[in-house]
Amino acid sequence: MGLLWRYWVLLGVGLWMAGCTTVPVTGRSQFNFMGEGQEMQLGFSEFEKMKKELPVSKDAQANAMVERVGRRIAAVAQSDMPKAQWEFILFESPDANAFCLPGGKVGIYTGILPITKDEAGLATVMGHEVAHAVARHGGARMSQAAGLQVLGVGVGLASASSKYRDLFNAGYGMGSQLAVALPHSRMQEAEADEIGLQYMALAGYPPSASIGFWQRFGEFNRSKGGNTAWFLRTHPTDEQRVENLRRLLPKAESMYRPQP
Ligand SMILES: [Zn+2]
Repeated sequence: MGLLWRYWVLLGVGLWMAGCTTVPVTGRSQFNFMGEGQEMQLGFSEFEKMKKELPVSKDAQANAMVERVGRRIAAVAQSDMPKAQWEFILFESPDANAFCLPGGKVGIYTGILPITKDEAGLATVMGHEVAHAVARHGGARMSQAAGLQVLGVGVGLASASSKYRDLFNAGYGMGSQLAVALPHSRMQEAEADEIGLQYMALAGYPPSASIGFWQRFGEFNRSKGGNTAWFLRTHPTDEQRVENLRRLLPKAESMYRPQP
């Protein structure tokens, strides 16, 4: 019995060390039990599935804008996610939503465009979502949820199992009820804001535009009323986010280079 206990502790420590990763830009350490390559494979296959299930926008102008802003953010983030295979898709959906899956698969919903308003607003959203992907926040959420399970079943978790896929979707806030139970934490949101602000500045968008976007997004959420209860529990309040952004703004402003 005593030996078995030691075995599990050693296995746990080993897994922890194997899964310890460093977030680019901020240098923070976090635990990701799934390898980057595996995360990317799941990201690619989930994105293909979404493209089949959700209608893609036929608005040529809006598509061109998403592609243009996306390419500029990607050019800046590339060195932090060198294996990325970037793709930017505008989905036709009333939801005010956006995401970036591992490996640089970015989805924007048309419902968020009235809130982003202009290219700098869109750059705020894309910088933020790409930052979540670069920092592998979805994988970290998945790891938290799976932590005890992984120890329970040892290392025999098959990469293609549906359990794995469910955890992945939950970690990335996609497709399952669990998604609602695993929203980004305040810490992850603040980190994505910090990295995203630098990305948009380096990509040539005025970082101060982020304040306006998050204020509009806050108004939008308030106008939606009771629907946001779960969201407010873990997300920073709009005031906290804007305050945090104002604190981060001087550094981002110093990185800002307007593009010709
Ligand atoms: Zn976020």
